[in-house]
Amino acid sequence: MAKVYLGLGTNLGNKEENLRLTAEKLEERIGEIISLSAFYITEPWGFDSVNSFFNAVCCIETNLFPFQILEETQLIEKKIGRNQKSVNGVYADRLIDIDLLLYDNLKIESERLTLPHPLMTERRFVMEPLAEIAPQLKHPTLGRTMKELFDELVANEHP
Ligand code: ADP
Ligand code: MG
Repeated sequence: MAKVYLGLGTNLGNKEENLRLTAEKLEERIGEIISLSAFYITEPWGFDSVNSFFNAVCCIETNLFPFQILEETQLIEKKIGRNQKSVNGVYADRLIDIDLLLYDNLKIESERLTLPHPLMTERRFVMEPLAEIAPQLKHPTLGRTMKELFDELVANEHP
């Protein structure tokens, strides 16, 4: 079994319900959720919107491979009603966004999937919940723990 960490975000509709429903579907289709962070209320990142986000991170034990997980998470995004993808790096409001953050210590660089997620360490809305559920987990390429990386991010926000 592998451990996959997923980042979840929603800024439309009943956000708590969107995250709960997503967690339910992830368990049905990917594997048992062995940890789920608190739900964090955050401001939109990379675009302007009046709608704040709810973000969370979960860890799932799975028998699926990364590309199978990507297929499943994209299906779940569709089911929960997300029909607009971000185009050319332009972000938009969404009912649910599911990002693959880490899959064991695997590194993948392809057009459809990059692992570890290349922007995770710059995003407080990812690193805060991740450091909550896996403070001692080491980043596969940076070799630092999630808690260290989160603390650094916070220190750089308030120098
Ligand atoms: P964003 O998450 O940046 O708002 P999308 O969810 O629309 O944008 O994803 C854009 C594309 O990013 C997806 O079609 C997917 O193939 C690709 N992608 C690359 N790496 C990852 C990853 N680690 N997790 C999720 N999607 C990824
Ligand atoms: Mg995404």
